Amino acid sequence: MSATIERLADPRASRARQMIRHFGARMTVPRVRVLAELLDAESALTHIELQKRVEAGAEPIDRVTLYRVLEWLEDTGLVHRVAGPDRVFHFSARPIRRPHGHFRCVRCAHIYCIEEPGALARRVRALLPAGFSGEEIEVTVSGRCARCASP
Ligand SMILES: [Zn+2]
Ligand SMILES: [Zn+2]
Repeated sequence: MSATIERLADPRASRARQMIRHFGARMTVPRVRVLAELLDAESALTHIELQKRVEAGAEPIDRVTLYRVLEWLEDTGLVHRVAGPDRVFHFSARPIRRPHGHFRCVRCAHIYCIEEPGALARRVRALLPAGFSGEEIEVTVSGRCARCASP
């Protein structure tokens, strides 16, 4: 087992290994492969996108294993998920404070995490009627990402 894990020698895998080790969790090949792909992704990924990337040039990963690994990664807080407009979940390993906002591209459907320093949330709270107390404000901006907006 560990010999196989050590074969995943690229820097992304070593960062993923480090993060898993930090949790004192059992190091498994699927955990390392899935987390490494998420760390490398520029936007949040769906199950299908993730499966394609994990399997590119490597052995297949079965769906159940992928779901379990994602569940575990969510439990540890290393990964969070965001629902897309189609209610399909997208997974992100961006090390970003929560809650935070998301940008959804209407063209390529990619979802990006965006940091919201809290100023916007404070203003939104100020818009609430007297006596109302907002607890959670989730900001989602939709539009075109840099790649899709450029001519
Ligand atoms: Zn786009
Ligand atoms: Zn996010």
